[in-house]
Amino acid sequence: MGVDAVYVVFPVLPEDLEGAVAAARTFNFLGVSITIPHKESVVGFCDELTAEAQMLGAVNTLQLLDGRVIGHNTDGQGFLRSLLEEKNFDVRDQKCAVIGAGGAAKAVIASIAAAGAADISIVNRSPERAKLAARVGGSVARVGVLEDVSNADLVVNATPIGMTGESEHLSPVPADVFSGGQVVADLIYKPSRTVLMSDAEARGASVMNGLGMLIHQAARQIEIWTGQEPPVAAMRVAVEGQ
Ligand code: NAP
Repeated sequence: MGVDAVYVVFPVLPEDLEGAVAAARTFNFLGVSITIPHKESVVGFCDELTAEAQMLGAVNTLQLLDGRVIGHNTDGQGFLRSLLEEKNFDVRDQKCAVIGAGGAAKAVIASIAAAGAADISIVNRSPERAKLAARVGGSVARVGVLEDVSNADLVVNATPIGMTGESEHLSPVPADVFSGGQVVADLIYKPSRTVLMSDAEARGASVMNGLGMLIHQAARQIEIWTGQEPPVAAMRVAVEGQ
């Protein structure tokens, strides 16, 4: 891209987060990607938040502009862009079910609500958290049950169940909730194919993993920092080569 910059990883302890943001300002960084477990606590160290970051109470991107730290959240846009790129799926007027109610679920709920989803049901282990997550989706979002997953055009798994490790051989929902005609997105990208994706595909659904969301949330960050369009295809090749 002709940008004179490097992208490096800094592991930061929770108690050092404020100092890390101050250092980014001191060293005049172009920007910072923020990940687990700092997405919520970093909100308190931003001078400004975008409307989306404010609503979600979570930031995954810091932009340093004229000495000010602006907090953005690009996860939801990353999801929408990957859905369009990989499945040519537009959520407008569609029925959607989101499994999970944590940070990733909220980013997805807010973005699909803003993009015109007709109905968003949130199916989660803790109904109280589902209720809180529904708030970011406004009037079209509500707490749902398994039947809503069966009736949805788009199903999104936003729980870590199925990730490499202890739950790799598990799915958060029974296999028989899926059917042909559905688009089923798992936000997990390790492994690249989860039990939930195999179950859904075996019943005729069209499936995708979370790699596209990972790439597109990062691509949006690069746009924010540089004002230039990033080479998404090259980013995908780099990530897939990992
Ligand atoms: P989080 O805030 O910790 O939320 C996790 C959600 O999963 C909660 O709703 C939780 O339910 C539910 N859950 C966890 N363990 C469960 C279990 N054993 N049984 C039933 N439900 C369970 O996590 P997050 O940050 O939203 O991340 C969720 C997933 O999305 C992770 O796999 C993460 O890797 C992925 N992700 C992907 C991308 C991407 O770019 N592709 C970006 C962000 C996140 P309770 O509310 O009942 O606790």
